[in-house]
Amino acid sequence: MKAFRKRILVTGGAGFLGSHLCERLVGEGFDVLCVDNYFTGARDNIVHLLANPRFEAMRHDVTFPLYLEVDEIYNLACPASPIHYQFDPVQTTKTSVHGAINMLGLAKRIKAKILQASTSEVYGDPTVHPQKEDYWGNVNPVGTRSCYDEGKRCAETLFFDYYRQHRMRIKVARIFNTYGPRMHPNDGRVVSNFIVQALRGEPITVFGEGRQTRSFCYVDDLIDGLVRLMDSADETTGPINIGNPGEFTIVELARKVIDLTGSRSKLVYEKLPADDPMQRCPDITLAREKLQWEPKVPLQEGLRRTIAYFEEMLRAGTHTALQSLSAGRG
Ligand code: NAD
Ligand code: UDP
Repeated sequence: MKAFRKRILVTGGAGFLGSHLCERLVGEGFDVLCVDNYFTGARDNIVHLLANPRFEAMRHDVTFPLYLEVDEIYNLACPASPIHYQFDPVQTTKTSVHGAINMLGLAKRIKAKILQASTSEVYGDPTVHPQKEDYWGNVNPVGTRSCYDEGKRCAETLFFDYYRQHRMRIKVARIFNTYGPRMHPNDGRVVSNFIVQALRGEPITVFGEGRQTRSFCYVDDLIDGLVRLMDSADETTGPINIGNPGEFTIVELARKVIDLTGSRSKLVYEKLPADDPMQRCPDITLAREKLQWEPKVPLQEGLRRTIAYFEEMLRAGTHTALQSLSAGRG
């Protein structure tokens, strides 16, 4: 008799986090189906998995319905960097909202367990610090970040309504800033920006005075948190914060990157983008209790690994990401 092997769908599987998740799940022996429209993702991110018979990639936009059979769904499809989610804000909202409706509809029909990659952005510019899951947030509903923040908030609403109305097995992870290899070199997020600028000897672009804070989680820790959440007891629905509680100002981050790269780059100060949150730090008590999870990789070590990745990418100069987004969209 054929042994049962879990089939897992990862939407956004060719993106930064999605590709690491696919790799982890394939490594654990599961059948993995990656669905992506390659808006910010890249085939380079999953090319090493394509020869594996347990891995399959499919081009599809989650704003359209999808019919297939799987046991679990990780819904990660959505551009995550401000310049990319603001490039086509209507599509961003559709991806979060229609994407959630389509994936929840799929999960309902096939009775699959489904996890939503939500975000610390649901807290907006928080007035409570650090942020706990019971804080409702401080979000501008009509600003330039709203397509992402409100799209993700609406997706959470949908998850909990499907849970209450249809008794589905749902999991909602609120992901805080995560970094690591396979971040898009041109996607404008702070860690990749600073590393690429430092390695190229270009000025490090600090927005505002750089006193705003973020908490940076290394990608391996984050993926471990997502998998533990998916595997947790059914009553553990979340929302649950997954992030690293170490909090740094943006200037502190810039100085660390300069130190670790040995770069001669200087800091330049640019205008702070609209609605840029002033502070962000997760309270991860719930993740510690319910998932026995906490991050293990310190910022210094995670930055070292990420710098090594970008050094190699810049040296080889072959990653399609280096051309595609800067030419068309970035
Ligand atoms: P990413 O941009 O690298 O990956 C997103 C992936 O989704 C890309 O491969 C993209 O092509 C794909 N995608 C976008 N729209 C799609 C659509 N309509 N249909 C199918 N695929 C689509 O971003 P990431 O950092 O890997 O983020 C993954 C998820 O985690 C996102 O949902 C994001 O909101 C969430 N998240 C990430 C962070 C972080 O710091 N990386 C923080 C909070 C939340
Ligand atoms: N930031 C910066 N320089 C950059 C890119 C970003 O100072 O080149 C700042 C940005 O204004 C924000 C923080 O770094 O305060 C994190 O930005 P990112 O886009 O990575 O994530 P988010 O704002 O979504 O947390």
